[in-house]
Amino acid sequence: IGRHPTPQAGPEGVPGVARIVAIGSGKGGVGKSTVSSNLAVALAKQGRRVGLLDADIYGPSQPRMMGVNQRPASPDGKTIIPLRAHGVTMMSIGLMTDPGKAIVWRGPMLMGALQQMLTQVEWGELDVLLVDLPPGTGDVQLTLCQKTHLTGAIVVSTPQDVALIDARKAIDMFNTLKTPILGLVENMSTYICPQCGHEAHLFGHGGVKKEAETIGAPFLCSLPIDLDTRLAGDTGTPIAAGDGPIADAYATLAKRLID
Ligand code: ADP
Repeated sequence: IGRHPTPQAGPEGVPGVARIVAIGSGKGGVGKSTVSSNLAVALAKQGRRVGLLDADIYGPSQPRMMGVNQRPASPDGKTIIPLRAHGVTMMSIGLMTDPGKAIVWRGPMLMGALQQMLTQVEWGELDVLLVDLPPGTGDVQLTLCQKTHLTGAIVVSTPQDVALIDARKAIDMFNTLKTPILGLVENMSTYICPQCGHEAHLFGHGGVKKEAETIGAPFLCSLPIDLDTRLAGDTGTPIAAGDGPIADAYATLAKRLID
């Protein structure tokens, strides 16, 4: 009896979800989660059906940034009902674990948790599902890119060299895994003094745009260092939920992502 090769599992989509977009960074603390939550809210304000999956297993910040803390219900013990906040359907590993407890998991457990969040959560019909990745190029990123049919990835970086060096590694990983780079976002690019209006480039200037030109990827936007952005994230109502220049910048970013 001839042996048939085992069929290889190809990347899969999530039923009902039109686009899955990963948001990654090389370094932590550059604002990847802030950009993810604000972009999600901006998309929802434009009438898009949007989901946000916080896959930052080691430092899930979306519950706090989106202002939710209930444990999602699972009436049948199999499927998980996601939460809703600011018009966004959301789920975070941080909602399924004890707050304040560190998650110490090996690769296979991480991958299991990620798959569970993609396939067992009742996402419903979505125009786009944003996935807030952990920083770096580890197991979670690898599993997501290989097992899930991604529309592409957005890479967030500050203009600082140490952040850019790591962002290049993330870009390289997405290229290796054949995940299209949808574009680069520069966060914390300038600081405008609220007292005198002087503009300072605390982390350098223009580095992310230059990088986008070098790799031939779209430069999506630059976002300033802004106290209100930080406060809004800390209090659970992303700045994009309100009005003003930063909310406008996120609205433009949302339009660029889905037009
Ligand atoms: P990452 O997801 O890359 O680790 P976060 O989004 O958690 O980064 O941001 C790290 C910290 O920096 C948070 O306290 C956040 O509120 C703050 N932050 C992010 N972007 C900005 C910004 N543009 N202006 C001011 N603070 C910001």
